[in-house]
Amino acid sequence: MASFSFQFTETRDIQGEQMFYSYVNFDQSVASRRKALTPYSIVCKCTSCVKATPATDKLRSEFVQRIQEVRNQQAIWKANPSYYLDLMLGLRRDILNEGLNGTVSYASCPQAIYLLYRLLKQPRKEKIFFEFKKYNRISKLDLL
Ligand SMILES: [Zn+2]
Repeated sequence: MASFSFQFTETRDIQGEQMFYSYVNFDQSVASRRKALTPYSIVCKCTSCVKATPATDKLRSEFVQRIQEVRNQQAIWKANPSYYLDLMLGLRRDILNEGLNGTVSYASCPQAIYLLYRLLKQPRKEKIFFEFKKYNRISKLDLL
């Protein structure tokens, strides 16, 4: 902070992609983000801020916990994999719509979907959700 500079380390290959740094936390409400940006004289005009609603604020505050709750049920997924798959697909849709797929927590979502399609023996769909591998991180989910 003394030099007001940052050092970043990539955790995956970055080629031709724009890098972003957020001045606020992803889980903050739009009101809280606006308040946090005021000292920088920034009025954010990103889609998430412009189109924020109470529902998107709620999603931001809850999505990490919601992913975790499904992950915590992994031992009983086999009893009703379609139910958990629907939960995760719906959550993933909401996360993508809100642009939260750049968060570290998101990686567990496609991984869970991948595992659930594997449980349901749907290899074509399973393959699509192998995308979680691009995050190049060790997930806390055990492979079934
Ligand atoms: Zn914004």
